[in-house]
Amino acid sequence: MPGHRRVSHPSHTLVAMTAPSTRPTPPTAGPRQRSLSPSRAADFKTCPLLYRFRNIDRLPERPTVEQARGSLVHAVLERLFGLPVVDRTPENATGLLPEALRRLTATDPAVAEVLAATPDAERTLLAAANALLAGYFTMEDPRRLAGTERECFVEAEVAGGLVLHGYIDRLDVAPSGELRVVDYKTGGAPREAFEARALFQLRFYALVLWRGRGVLPRVLRLMYLKDVQICDFTPDADDLERFERTLVALRQAIDRATADRDFRPSAGRLCDWCSHQAHCPAHGGQLPPFPADQ
Ligand code: SF4
Repeated sequence: MPGHRRVSHPSHTLVAMTAPSTRPTPPTAGPRQRSLSPSRAADFKTCPLLYRFRNIDRLPERPTVEQARGSLVHAVLERLFGLPVVDRTPENATGLLPEALRRLTATDPAVAEVLAATPDAERTLLAAANALLAGYFTMEDPRRLAGTERECFVEAEVAGGLVLHGYIDRLDVAPSGELRVVDYKTGGAPREAFEARALFQLRFYALVLWRGRGVLPRVLRLMYLKDVQICDFTPDADDLERFERTLVALRQAIDRATADRDFRPSAGRLCDWCSHQAHCPAHGGQLPPFPADQ
């Protein structure tokens, strides 16, 4: 496992950054064979049946206020880092909220559904998102971060021809070329299970950057905006090599399960947050027929 450091109090020791010299490869059209994203890998690792429901059956999931709030805060932080450095203030972040919510409502039916649920849903959502942004500004001053990539698409081929890809919330690039992977967390799931999944995601990105750019990130950072807490992890090359083998084996297990049409439920604490209990045998539900085109 990578080294782990939890910072309970805000960290103001920030590294001056410069603009990155290279941009990642843009996404290509259409699905790839033998590819894996962190969310799909984590779904299968958490519960193979959840993977099937989400990625093979593509069953709809009930939209939640927490997801809408998370999408809104991520959108605002992305836009905030698109502003000139001196303009990245708490006031401007708050000012970005209404427009970001309008765009999300227009493009994301789940957010639109959450807003339509109650008369004061929009006001409540904006207030909650603003509180999370305040938590963010307690932890760092974005005016001191010059070199960042936001919503950064990364992709790399690893062992066995497996292509790993995903989007990183923020990638800080130091003048020396050192990388810091930053992932914003807005809460909503049990902390232990959530953090294990988040760390899995960060190791995934560290491996992609290492294999894709030849740079082992110096820091993997989780920023908990609600709790105003930073968790830093130091990736380790030996750990990432083991993790790479784990991902290749995971992809093979997914391929086997798909060929056999056999995705087993793995019940646990995250079942409370799962939208698919009605279809899950572990909760007395009935499996839908396996899609014929898979
Ligand atoms: S309810 Fe639990 S066991 Fe069933 S699919 Fe969802 S996460 Fe898996």
